[in-house]
Amino acid sequence: MSTTILGAGPIGLATAYEFAKRGEEVTVVSTSRNTGKAGEVNAGWIVPIMASPVPAPGMVKKSIGWMLKSDGPLRISPVPHPDHISFMSKMLRNTSKARFEHGLHALSEFGRGTLEHFDTYKAEGVDFELHKTGVLMAFKSEKELESHYAEFENSERYGLKKVTRMTGSEMREIEPGLSQSVKAGLNCSDQYSINPTSLLEGLRSSCEKIGVTFFETSEDIYLKENADKSTEVTFGSMKVSGDHVVIAAGVQSRGLMNQVGFDMPLKFGKGYSLDFHQETRITHALYLSEAKVAVTPTNSFLRLAGTMEFGGNPLKVNPTRVNGIAQSSAEFFSFPIPQQPKVGMGLRPMTPDGMPVIGKVPGTSHVYVATGHAMLGVTLAPATAKLLAGLIFSQIDSEHLVNFSLTRF
Ligand SMILES: Cc1cc2nc3c(=O)[nH]c(=O)nc-3n(C[C@H](O)[C@H](O)[C@H](O)COP(=O)(O)OP(=O)(O)OC[C@H]3O[C@@H](n4cnc5c(N)ncnc54)[C@H](O)[C@@H]3O)c2cc1C
Repeated sequence: MSTTILGAGPIGLATAYEFAKRGEEVTVVSTSRNTGKAGEVNAGWIVPIMASPVPAPGMVKKSIGWMLKSDGPLRISPVPHPDHISFMSKMLRNTSKARFEHGLHALSEFGRGTLEHFDTYKAEGVDFELHKTGVLMAFKSEKELESHYAEFENSERYGLKKVTRMTGSEMREIEPGLSQSVKAGLNCSDQYSINPTSLLEGLRSSCEKIGVTFFETSEDIYLKENADKSTEVTFGSMKVSGDHVVIAAGVQSRGLMNQVGFDMPLKFGKGYSLDFHQETRITHALYLSEAKVAVTPTNSFLRLAGTMEFGGNPLKVNPTRVNGIAQSSAEFFSFPIPQQPKVGMGLRPMTPDGMPVIGKVPGTSHVYVATGHAMLGVTLAPATAKLLAGLIFSQIDSEHLVNFSLTRF
């Protein structure tokens, strides 16, 4: 059977690889336009342990404080558009304790086996930069640590190592690049990090070796399902026909779903990356809690990633918020942050409950979607690919498909 996958980010590529390994004929079509591809600018953390949905209890109170700062980690633009207002109010409803706990459990179950999936990629020869040094979470106070600890309490229940508490000195023993401002920490010792671009390149190269065809186009991409249920993707003078289509175009998936007559709330959550190519002392992936910044050392640069912006101009880079990432991080380091980083911007695909949408697009016979992975699209890419393969090729039903149903909003 033949499948056309729309999108070559972590979700599209992991799906192409999974399907092709199963002997399916796969074509990947993606756009070369700047659409805010998140796959290239993310922090590269493989963190099934961080399964908390974005809408969380207390989020509103915290958000108001952050929003008063123009360089704070969260911004909700006051856009007077009904679609924006409807999305944000749906998100607000998902900040209840019960909805949060449901989401945390659903995402933790879905992420079960994630570290092993990345080990399997390596064992199969997918060539990417993988670091198994864990993730250290740094806090400027015990109180801040306590407000986070509950999210990790059940890690062993999902097959992950227990998260251990550390003092500031213990954190500095492991990571001497941390400053005296760090008073406490959590050690998520079994989590991974990657160089995000290397994963995209590695998956693409492995896909090509097993016969996947790739098209990248600057033309508009059109999708339709024919009366005989075959699918058709066209761009410029090209037409790709197939048995199935998987829409995996990140936040742009909404427009593609619209083309086959379905709409759902999917919005962007904008984030930035700052890459420093100078030598730094950092050797572990770090979460700087009060700054809400993720720090990732790779073999060739140190990346700081952060902020979440809802609404406004999707492709505009806001220098105040970019500077906010560097400034709020500075206090956590025992060395001056280097100047003139390379800045990247990406749009996280967000749903109102912070969980992905994975399944068949209602009203179609053979069009599927996988998006809405928010802050976990790299982490959950292999699990998403396996879920889709089970659904499409073996008609396997699963509780995940219920949790991630497209019609739940
Ligand atoms: C600052 C930041 C830090 C992050 N850190 C992490 C992290 O540490 N760990 C983690 O797991 N996740 C992280 N994320 C989230 C993660 O990057 C996303 O969830 C993930 O990239 C989503 O993958 P995707 O393939 O759905 O979309 P994208 O990565 O956005 O890729 C979309 C793809 O679709 C293509 N496309 C767009 N429009 C069309 C169209 N019309 N037709 C066909 N193709 C199209 C694009 O060319 C691209 O190939 C982070 C995100 C940001 C912004």
